Amino acid sequence: MRWMVLLLCLLGCSSGGESPLHRWMQDNGKLKVLSTTAMIDDLVGQIGGDKVDHLALITGEMDPHSYEIVKGDEEKFSYASIIFFNGLGLEHGASLRAQLQNHPHAVALGTGLPMGDLLQVDGQIDPHVWMDISLWAQVVPLIVDHLSEKDPQGAELFQKNGAALKTKMLAKQKELVEKMQKISPDKRYLVTSHDAYDYFCRSYLAVPGEKEWQQRFSAPEGLAPDAQLSAADIQKVIDHLCKYKIHVVFPESNVSRDSLRKIVGACKEKGLNVEISQATLYGDAMGKQTYLEMIEHDIGVLYDAWK
Ligand SMILES: [Zn+2]
Repeated sequence: MRWMVLLLCLLGCSSGGESPLHRWMQDNGKLKVLSTTAMIDDLVGQIGGDKVDHLALITGEMDPHSYEIVKGDEEKFSYASIIFFNGLGLEHGASLRAQLQNHPHAVALGTGLPMGDLLQVDGQIDPHVWMDISLWAQVVPLIVDHLSEKDPQGAELFQKNGAALKTKMLAKQKELVEKMQKISPDKRYLVTSHDAYDYFCRSYLAVPGEKEWQQRFSAPEGLAPDAQLSAADIQKVIDHLCKYKIHVVFPESNVSRDSLRKIVGACKEKGLNVEISQATLYGDAMGKQTYLEMIEHDIGVLYDAWK
């Protein structure tokens, strides 16, 4: 009996003790791909299959806008055969930006998207392109091309996996659009903490062909979360809540709720009843979910709140 316990412990220790980083850094002839965000890493894993070892730099609930290099990250950068990052100003931590600029094989996927599909918020390009599955599906061929260039023998597999992934993503897109369109248009008004949901709003909340769709989303904080709100920022959101008769605002998993609390408090003083949803949305982080599960989660939360 005792030897069984010992064996189980040894097996457990050898498999459970090995971190994803350890596995990624084993020299096994595979392409070593580092992605800044989990949303990119998820696609790379599905396209690369068993020909690629993939790793995300910014995981869990960390903020990609302000992420700075920590101990051990430099080794990841020097070990990576190729790095995929979002670009469009998302990764603006100075030390991370410097690493991306200096790496000979760092690819900004966002800048490969058609300019006509990108949105501007306050004069800046909105980097949250993953929040619309149909737009994010357009980075799949870019990943396929770059992996194929690095490993021509894997090109056929990358093409096949990329095509299957794109089909899966577009099917999920169709399903989620249809689900959200079942909600009455006068309820489809979203307020969250920061400006991460414009692409999401255009894709899932807008009425097809609607010119004023951007009215359907508002947030007190800008493109990068920053809880330093002015009285004008708060007033702007309160006016929006009143105009569209919105009674629930939605917190984001990795953003402080302080700004939403300030808004709810200010509403209360004016006799307006607004509350913070118990359910949380995923914008800049996806927790332990896959990318498609993350978007589906957000649609599900809003559907349940508005139905
Ligand atoms: Zn963001």
